[in-house]
Amino acid sequence: MTDIPTTNPTPPILSTVGIGMRFGGLTALDDVSLDVPAASIVGLVGPNGAGKSTLFNVMSGYLRPTSGTVLIDGVEQTRRSTPQHRAHMGIARTFQHPELFSDLTIREHVTIARRMRLTPRRLWSDVLTGAGLRRNTQPDDEVTEQLLVDLSLSEDADRIATGLPLGVARRVEVARALATDPRVVLLDEPSSGLDEGETAELSEVLVSARERHSVALVLVEHDVDLVLGMSDTVYVLDFGKLIARGAPEMVRSDPAVRAAYLGDDPVAGTAHPAPEPAGTSR
Ligand code: ADP
Ligand code: MG
Repeated sequence: MTDIPTTNPTPPILSTVGIGMRFGGLTALDDVSLDVPAASIVGLVGPNGAGKSTLFNVMSGYLRPTSGTVLIDGVEQTRRSTPQHRAHMGIARTFQHPELFSDLTIREHVTIARRMRLTPRRLWSDVLTGAGLRRNTQPDDEVTEQLLVDLSLSEDADRIATGLPLGVARRVEVARALATDPRVVLLDEPSSGLDEGETAELSEVLVSARERHSVALVLVEHDVDLVLGMSDTVYVLDFGKLIARGAPEMVRSDPAVRAAYLGDDPVAGTAHPAPEPAGTSR
């Protein structure tokens, strides 16, 4: 694969080393190694079914890999591969399909996530079940309100999550993830279902979150141009294997990447749009 080594000596916050994942006879991931340096934006692209969400689930502790290891700050996490533990280590995530609670308001979603951070024993499962919203009497802090402002959610903050437009639900998910003061946020297809304007708004929010809070982002996306435009380093998965890694311009012009995107989709049987050639505006 194309591999442009980085000269950055800072150890990555989150790494996968030689990850393999089998589902019965299907090899979804084969020897995948990826590094997430502090405050970086790492893009992960590949055709449908390439293994992007699976790798994401392995990184966030939702799936235990068949082989290989996940490291946080260089320490192996194999025995502690739960979403709760990963969250306490500063790894937050959003889902490909937003998972919000119909009976909670937008502000309550962010508040629960914020309180999780204040209480070491508060678990990520509380964030996902809504437990603990009212058993903690600490006042809502300014950060919650600021996050609502940052994600353009203030006006809708008292709305119940039922029936929220997808663009709003995605921003709630991002606010909730950032509220935990994460070091890494894993974003699974944050732009899917959003229109161009909403996508541009969201990517602005993400880039500014990185700048203001030094949070690293891992962006799993089918929107190649969005990823190439935002990322410091891009990894390309195809049929569970990494076929390229490097700076966006290098990846954009890589022959193997172009072949993967021009080839037949193993899942849908349709062709993918090719990344634009190097040198075009992004
Ligand atoms: P991507 O997110 O890149 O579209 P996925 O990681 O969702 O791809 O899927 C990679 C492959 O693994 C696909 O062939 C998919 O059908 C398969 N797969 C994913 N999750 C499971 C699972 N829980 N059980 C069986 N097969 C799965
Ligand atoms: Mg996916």
